[in-house]
Formats: sequence, structure tokens, C-alpha cells
Amino acid sequence: MNNKIYLSSPHMGGGELKYIHQAFEENWIAPLGPNVDNFEKDICQYTGASHAAALSSGTAAIHLALILLGVQAGDEVICPTFTFSATVNPIVYQGAVPVFIDSGYSTWNICVKETQRAIEDRIRKGKKPKALMIVHLYGQSAKMDELMELATHYDIPVIEDAAEALGAQYKGKMLGTFGKFGILSFNGNKIITTSGGGALLSHEEDLIKKARFLATQARDNAPHYQHSQIGYNYRLSNIAAGIGRGQMEVIAERVKQRRAHFEFYKTAFAGIPAISFSPELENTLGNRWLTCIVVDEKQSGGVTRETIRLALEKQNIEARPLWKPMHLQPIFANYPYYGSRQVAEDLFTRGLCLPSGSNLSTEDLAKIATSIKHLF
Ligand SMILES: *Cc1c(COP(=O)(O)O)cnc(C)c1O
Repeated sequence: MNNKIYLSSPHMGGGELKYIHQAFEENWIAPLGPNVDNFEKDICQYTGASHAAALSSGTAAIHLALILLGVQAGDEVICPTFTFSATVNPIVYQGAVPVFIDSGYSTWNICVKETQRAIEDRIRKGKKPKALMIVHLYGQSAKMDELMELATHYDIPVIEDAAEALGAQYKGKMLGTFGKFGILSFNGNKIITTSGGGALLSHEEDLIKKARFLATQARDNAPHYQHSQIGYNYRLSNIAAGIGRGQMEVIAERVKQRRAHFEFYKTAFAGIPAISFSPELENTLGNRWLTCIVVDEKQSGGVTRETIRLALEKQNIEARPLWKPMHLQPIFANYPYYGSRQVAEDLFTRGLCLPSGSNLSTEDLAKIATSIKHLF
């Protein structure tokens, strides 16, 4: 167990306990409190978002964003098929319909052309999509200029799922700050963690105020408990936010470390033409949350991503196939899908995420690279 090399494990910065001790000394274990307020400030300062609400998870943040956009039963929401299920589940919580879009090879993220085709087709069928969800998978930016232009043209609000993309940039601007809403995750395997948590970002203060209200059981302003809306229990605790404050002190360093791991793998496999890497669009800076490789079986002499995954597993090294597309998931199979090239399916079939945690040692990295090179 202890010798196992993980895909992406928590990496504390050292400052976290200081904030947790403060909370204990003041007995500010709950509710909310100064760590939550300051964590929100730290997030805004780092990302450039005007306002942020610290929440219990990234999934909760997506759910609140949809509620605040008025997404209801029967409404349609455009989203990429190539993502983690947490992007899609909250759409279904609302009784709404996800409309899945294939990826493009230049970003691996939602394809601009297919998105336009879907929007026009849904409008033609009598239902204009209520929201456009953009995901920056593995910390690499989607084509934001083109997508924002589409969204503006059709007047569809954008939610940016930047759960995997904290610290990644598009033309010098942090991801998660382009749309009406941005969402972040601080789950255990993300680039930084609060042991579980998330955030909702927006430039509109009233939206974030409303999110905080909904996230604390939608309690009206009265001495007794009075409710005129359905509420949720979605806030982050003052203890977890203390971890978050410590983690925000090292986020810039974490991005550098993950990018350095990516460069290490790229150099290590430079002589293996069958292995290629996830892209990075011009004028963008990925956070390289996970280093992803794609295996070309025409050049690999029979080695597949499964051969590699199993060889690593034997050495107690965790590697994982890329996300299985949502339109291929049994639970989502009956929703509309727009794609003519099967890009996400192809990436899923041939792709593998390699251990990428910022706390990997030089020895760990060398061991992983050697195991893979042995196969070729
Ligand atoms: C992790 C993740 C989420 C959900 O975040 P949680 O904090 O785990 O709820 C949403 N979308 C994507 C793309 C993710 O990777």
C-alpha cells in the first residue's frame, strides 16, 4: 500500500494546520467563519473572479449554477460528452436534459462546430438550450474565443466547469472566469484539495449572494426558520476552508510542478513515436493536472494503452484510462448526442492518464518511465 504510486494524491503545503489551529483556538469549528471568508478572497485574488462562494463540492457548485440560471425540468443544457459524470449529474438532478457534444482533437474539449450544429438543431426543434457547459478537461483550455462568441450570438449563458483546471489560463486569463459562472473542485485528487470541496465563481455579486443563500437552506430573513424556496446544505466548513487557505499559498508552485512532470514524460518518451500527448492550444497555459498519453497502435508493435496500464499495475503504479464519454454511459445513453467523428470515443479507447501528483519523487517518475519504455 505504502509503496504504491498514485495517479494524483493530496499534497499539503505546510500552512494548512496553522489555519486549522486558529479555528480550534477560537472554537470556530462551525458554522462558516473566517477561514471560509478568507479562502473565498484567496480564490478571487488568484483567479481574478470578482466573487466566489466556497461550497461542499464542485458538483454542488454546478448544481447551484444551473438553479441560478433557472434550469428546470425539460430544459436542455449543452455539455461535452468527454468529461467526468459530475458535470452531467446536476443537469439530471434538475430534471433537465443534457445534450452531448463530441470533442475536437486540437483541445480534446467540446467541438465548436458540433456545438453550433447542436444549438441550431435544438432551436429548430423548438427548444433553445438553457445553458452551455464548457469543461476544461485535464486542465487544458477549450477554445474560449470561439465558444464565447457562439454563446453571445445565441444569447446562451455559459457555465465553465474548471474543476480540473485551477491555475490554467487562456490568453493570460484564468479559466473559470469567462462564463457567467465558473466552478472549481477541491476534491482529494485535484491540483489542490480541501479534502473535499468546491467553489462557484462569478463576476456578478448578486448571483454569488444568492448561491450562498441557497447553499445554507434558503433561510429567509426572520428570527424563526422561514423558507420560501427549496434550499441546500452545500457550504464548505471552516475547518476544510483552513486546508484550502494553506493550499492556496502553494497553488502557483503546484501548477509549475505538474507542468514539469509533463515535460519529464515528454522527454522520456521522445523516442517512442507511438506515444503522443494531450494538446496545449496556442496562447494557453494548461495546469497539466494529469499527464495524458495516447497510443497509436499502428506504430506500437501491438502495445495498447491496456498493455501499459496493466504493466504499471503490476508494479503498484496507478494509471487510468481517459474519461469514458457520457453518451456511452448506460445511464446517459438515451440523451441526444452530436458528433460525427467519434473523437472522444477514440481518445477513450487509446488514452491513458499517468501518475501526475505534484508530490511524485524523481525516483517515482523514473520508475514509471522505465516501466513504459520496457514495453517498446
Ligand atoms: C472533479 C470534477 C467535478 C466534480 O467535483 P467534486 O468536487 O468532486 O464534486 C466536476 N467536473 C469535473 C470535470 C471534475 O473532474
